[in-house]
Amino acid sequence: MAGCPVGRIPGTVAVRKVYDVIVVGGGHAGAEAAWAASRLGATTALVTLKLDAMGRMSCNPAIGGLGKGHMVREIDALGGLMAGIIDATGIQFRMLNKTKGPAVWGPRAQADCGDYAGKLRQSLQEVSNLDLVEGMVEAVRTVPGRDERPQREPESRLTHGGASILKRPSVIGVTLGDGRALDGQAVIVTTGTFLRGLMHCGEVRTEGGRVGEPASNALSAALESLGLELRRLKTGTPPRVHRDSIDYNALTPQLGDDPPVPFSFMTDALDRPQVCCWITYTNERVHGCIRDNLHRAPMYSGQIRSTGPRYCPSIEDKVGRFEDTARHQLFLDPQGRTHDWIYCNGIATSLPRDVQDAVVHGIRGLERARIMQYGYAIEYDFVPTHQIQASLETKCVRGLFLAGQINGTSGYEEAAGQGLIAGVNAVRYLRREEPLVLGRDEAYLGVMIDDLITRPPDEPYRMFTSRGEYRLHLRADNADARLTPIGRRAGLVDDERWRRYQAKQRGIERMRVAVAAVSHGGRLLKDWLRRPDACPAELKRILAAAGQGPFPPEVVEAVVLETKYEGYLARQHRQIDRFRRLEGMEIPTHVDYSQLSELRREAREAFARVAPRTLGQAARISGISPADVTTLWVYLSARNRDRRSVSGENTGCS
Ligand SMILES: Cc1cc2nc3c(=O)[nH]c(=O)nc-3n(C[C@H](O)[C@H](O)[C@H](O)COP(=O)(O)OP(=O)(O)OC[C@H]3O[C@@H](n4cnc5c(N)ncnc54)[C@H](O)[C@@H]3O)c2cc1C
Repeated sequence: MAGCPVGRIPGTVAVRKVYDVIVVGGGHAGAEAAWAASRLGATTALVTLKLDAMGRMSCNPAIGGLGKGHMVREIDALGGLMAGIIDATGIQFRMLNKTKGPAVWGPRAQADCGDYAGKLRQSLQEVSNLDLVEGMVEAVRTVPGRDERPQREPESRLTHGGASILKRPSVIGVTLGDGRALDGQAVIVTTGTFLRGLMHCGEVRTEGGRVGEPASNALSAALESLGLELRRLKTGTPPRVHRDSIDYNALTPQLGDDPPVPFSFMTDALDRPQVCCWITYTNERVHGCIRDNLHRAPMYSGQIRSTGPRYCPSIEDKVGRFEDTARHQLFLDPQGRTHDWIYCNGIATSLPRDVQDAVVHGIRGLERARIMQYGYAIEYDFVPTHQIQASLETKCVRGLFLAGQINGTSGYEEAAGQGLIAGVNAVRYLRREEPLVLGRDEAYLGVMIDDLITRPPDEPYRMFTSRGEYRLHLRADNADARLTPIGRRAGLVDDERWRRYQAKQRGIERMRVAVAAVSHGGRLLKDWLRRPDACPAELKRILAAAGQGPFPPEVVEAVVLETKYEGYLARQHRQIDRFRRLEGMEIPTHVDYSQLSELRREAREAFARVAPRTLGQAARISGISPADVTTLWVYLSARNRDRRSVSGENTGCS
C-alpha cells in the first residue's frame, strides 16, 4: 500500500493498510458498525462509494415511527449513534399512537436530510481509530479455513451450501475496484440496495444503487463465489416536488408535538422551532389515471419480478388492491429546514414520468407542483438470511458479517440496529469472545435478528411492534433499563451515559418508595395512580405536598407506567421466565441433524439450514411443529446426560 494512498478526509488519523475490521458501505448500517467497532478499540476502515453521500436518506426523510422508533431508542441505549444524530438534526418531532397504550407509542422525527448526513459523517470523522475510505469494494479476500471441529465432537457431516462448515474459509481483507487492497480480519458488508441495483421508472431501466449512484455489480458476483446464495427484492420511492410550487391553502397542516420528545436518553430537551408538514389526498380522478396506465407500471407489465414490501405498497398497488377506497392520504414532508424539496409520502411509484406528472397534478394542492425528482422502484440483490447466524456472521465464511438491507430488511432503523450488533460482534469474533445476541425478551433488535434467522423473509422486512411477543415490556421509554447495562458490559456505553443512566435508576427507586409510602384521598398513591384520571401533574403536586421530589419527568413517566400496568407487566414477566427456560437450553454448533432419524425429514433439513442456538430458537423456525421440538429436546437431554457421564469418567469426578 505504500505509495498508494487511500482517500481520506480531514479529521481521521493517518490511513493504515491493515485493519482489524473493514466495513463496506457508509449508509445507516455501515455507520453504526464502524462506530461500534472503532469505539471498542478495533482499528477500523469504512469503505464507501462516496464519502459525501454517507448517511444519505435514500427514501423518506424521517427517522422512527411505530416499532422503528423503539429500535432507535434501543440503539441509543446500547451506545449507538442514530438517536443523537436525529435529535441534533430533526425538524419536526411527534410521538405516534399516543392515544393508545404505552407499548405502542412510537417516537418519529422528520429529518433535515443534509444536516443528518453531515452530522453522521462528522461523528465518524471524530473517532480516532476509524479511517473513512472512498472506493468501491469488488471482492472479499479469504484464505482456506482450518478445521473448527471442537475436540471430542463426533465426525460431523454438517454442511452449508455444499461445503463443510467445519472448514470455512476466513476473511483476510477486501479488494477495491481501482486495485487497492485493504487487509482486515473481519469484514462487515452493508451495501444496502446497491448490489446489482436496477432502477425502474416506467419502461426506462437504469443500473444504479439509488438515483445518481452506481450499482455494485462485481461485489454481488464475489459474494456468490464465496458460496452465498443471492436473491432479488424490490422497493420504491415517491416523487419530490419544489416547495414553492405547492398551494398550501388547499392542504391541512400537521404540526409537531409541543414540547417535542427527544429520541436519545442523553438529550435533555429539543429547543429548536419545528417545521410544519402537510396532508392532502388522492382522488377518484387520480385513481382513474393510474388504472388507465397500469399496463405501463413495471410491477404490472412483468418488467419487475421481485417482491416488494406488502406493508408499504406503491400507489399503483394501492389503487389496484383497494378498489373501493375513494382516496388515499398523502403527507407532504419537507426534506429539510431550508431544502427546496418536499417528499410526497404515500405515492411511491414506478409509473412513467408522464403518468407521474398527471398523478401529481391531479392531487389537491399539487396542481402546479414542479417535480424535482420522479419516483422510481429499485430491484437489488440480498442475501437470504438462512445463511447468517445470530451474530450476523455468515455461516459459510468466518469473519464475514452482513448488516442492513443486504439482509433483506428495509429501513434506516433496521439497518442501523443490525450495523451496531455486527460491529460489536466483529470485534468479539477477533477477540474470540461469545457474540452479543439480544433476546426477543430484551429488545426489538433481538426480535428482528431472531426473525431473520428463524424465518428468513421473502419480502423486505420492517419492524412493527406486533412482531414482538412482550410488547408491554419492550417499550420505547424503558429501552435504557433494558439495554444500557448490556451496552456497558459490551464496552459501548461511555462513563457519561452510564452516570446518567445510574442517576435515573436511583431516581426511579426513590420515587417507587415514595408512591408506596404516601397516601392520597385515603388510599396509597400507588393505588390512586392506577385510576384513569390520575395524571403526572397532579402526582407531582401530591408528592411535593408530602415533601417528596421533585422527580425529573423521565423518572415520573417510568414510575407512572410501571405502576399503572403492574398487573399486566407481572404476567408478561412470568411469560418471559417460561421463554427463558426454553432459550436456556443451548444447542451445540455441530449437531449432525441428518443422524436424528426420529425427526421428520423437513425438520432435519430446517434445523440443519438454520442451525438454531437454543431450543427456543428451534421452536420458532417456520414449519417446525411442537413434536419436532420435543424430539430435539429429548435428544439434547440424552446427549447432555451422556456427555456429563463421559466427562465424569475422564476426570474421575463422580
Ligand atoms: C428507491 C428506494 C426506496 C426505498 N424505500 C424505502 C421505504 O419505503 N421504506 C424504508 O423503510 N426504506 C426504504 N428504502 C430503504 C432505505 O433506504 C434502506 O433500508 C436503508 O438506507 C438501508 O441502509 P443500509 O445501510 O443497509 O444501506 P444504504 O443506506 O443503502 O447504504 C449502502 C452504502 O453502501 C455503499 N456501497 C454500496 N456498494 C458498495 C461497494 N461495493 N463498496 C463500497 N461501498 C458500497 C453505498 O455507497 C452506501 O453508502 C428505500 C431505498 C431506496 C433506494
